[in-house]
Amino acid sequence: MAVARVPFIAGNWKMNLDHQQAIAFVQKLHWALKEAKHLDGTVEVGLFPPFTDLRTVQTLLDADKIPFALGAQDLSTKDSGAYTGEISGAFLKRLNCAYVIVGHSERREYHAETDEIVAAKVQAALRHGLVPVICVGETSEDLEKFGASAVPVGQLEVALEGVSADADIVVAYEPVWAIGSGQAATPDQAQEVCAKLREVIAGRLGQEAAERSRVLYGGSVKAGNIASFMREPDVDGALVGGASLVVDEFAAIIRFQKHVGV
Ligand code: PEP
Repeated sequence: MAVARVPFIAGNWKMNLDHQQAIAFVQKLHWALKEAKHLDGTVEVGLFPPFTDLRTVQTLLDADKIPFALGAQDLSTKDSGAYTGEISGAFLKRLNCAYVIVGHSERREYHAETDEIVAAKVQAALRHGLVPVICVGETSEDLEKFGASAVPVGQLEVALEGVSADADIVVAYEPVWAIGSGQAATPDQAQEVCAKLREVIAGRLGQEAAERSRVLYGGSVKAGNIASFMREPDVDGALVGGASLVVDEFAAIIRFQKHVGV
């Protein structure tokens, strides 16, 4: 029997919004969605602020009973010790983070994160009860040389090594050339690659995991194109960068059901 997957709209703030700006942003977003009664569980909203905002956002979500999930943008492969500047998954869990992004292309590019480091971060997340949002995607050179799916499929194969069949994971297909460029992938391409990534999950973790795990598309998602992605059967939501920093735009993305007429 097919499992219904709750759509997940995740906002990756990257290095934007300090902890004070975060308060105003979360309150405004909550207000925009509360008014429209869009927080009834038909879509899960995740916020991924910078580390220094997490405690503030956690406190606000708790105090105002705001049903957004909290996530971090990265974590250490280690659990504790002499690793200056690193953040343990244990600390994130204590802040009620449910999710953590691993393997974002900006970490791979600017911090030389290899597939093996990403795999170690997936293990670190799972050790601490965090759901890793595993980012994979091809550069424009990869696209030209190998087509869209070969690189993301290979990245996910490595990231899922040693992951158990009952693990909770989210996968985000993010073509590197589409991130922050204003040029999103076509819905056809997103569907094709997301379907292949689901096959990788099936191969590594089994069919049940493939059916319940959410696979997101990310890369220049906006209010104007979210519906076209959400119509695709293997796209279960979006990882949103730039547009997640604009309250009205992000709220409109979260209200995508309106655009697809659900
Ligand atoms: C991202 O960085 O994960 C992302 C998808 O960014 P943008 O939405 O700005 O393309």
